Amino acid sequence: MEPIIQASNKKVYPIIYKPSPNSRDSINCFLVEDAYSLTLIDAGIEHPTYKQFFKEQLATYGFQLQDISQILLTHHHNDHTGMVNDIVASKNIPVYASDKAVPRLRFEPDYLYYKIAFFEHLYKVYDVLHTEAAINRMMKLRTTYEQHEQLKIQANILPLHQSQKLGDFHIQYFPGHSPDSIAFYDESTKWLFAGDIIFSNSIPNALVDFDEEGEMLQTVQQQQQSFHALQNLELSHVFAGHQPSFTNTAEVIERSLRHMDTKWQRIYQALQQGELTGQQLAQAAYGLKLDSAFIFVMSDIIGYTYYGEAQKKITINKETGVWKFSINA
Ligand SMILES: [Zn+2]
Repeated sequence: MEPIIQASNKKVYPIIYKPSPNSRDSINCFLVEDAYSLTLIDAGIEHPTYKQFFKEQLATYGFQLQDISQILLTHHHNDHTGMVNDIVASKNIPVYASDKAVPRLRFEPDYLYYKIAFFEHLYKVYDVLHTEAAINRMMKLRTTYEQHEQLKIQANILPLHQSQKLGDFHIQYFPGHSPDSIAFYDESTKWLFAGDIIFSNSIPNALVDFDEEGEMLQTVQQQQQSFHALQNLELSHVFAGHQPSFTNTAEVIERSLRHMDTKWQRIYQALQQGELTGQQLAQAAYGLKLDSAFIFVMSDIIGYTYYGEAQKKITINKETGVWKFSINA
């Protein structure tokens, strides 16, 4: 368990959940108390065991659900939104997230419908659409589309924008892991509530996604820029969505940038053997992980090949239905 952190008139109560005793990563959310409010930053997963755990943690700190005065979400992923519906049902409080999170949290049918077509095309040109992992992913996307009414966040989401202030929190966009990733920065304490922007021991996956026009986002460049933007912030304590909180911020950011370079090298090296399809490249660089961690591996393959193309280090031949990748001489 992480300790309560205190500075001036503010306190952070960490709610750290380990799905099983030997799970590597925890699922974290944080209660921030000041003289006027009790803010919940992120809301865990939706699961009966988690609900029980969450309420017990609150009780340990001397709180109950109704004491929470607002919820702030770092991004839309369901390991950060689990308790929102329950809390809002017990008391109608404001729920804030990035403006870019709104269609995703609402499970808007147009957005979900486009997402299916977007990934179908992408997996086709990367020549993995026929694999079992891709078939399962596509099935899951279709199920999500069909069940959007049940899945959506019931609360009315209040959109936050870059550089906006909410109480003492500065809102800053840090895209990369997801397009709607934002952090809450408290200038007086130099605390950063970072969600899945940066972790203490590994780097968050830069998940393939698209913008409002349906265009593929340069997620790898975004993540790199986000790490650089973090270097410009004075940080005393980073509270992350997974893994332990940390204070050695400069070191963690540098390691994260190096980790990105390692990922890039892995793909660049694999292409030394000559022109490859997306599937061949994924297999050469990641082996069996292509099946066991399909979404993450494909996010790296797609993200870093686009990155390489933008850097003029990789050529993507898009003339045929299945794209071919090669390194530039
Ligand atoms: Zn997460």
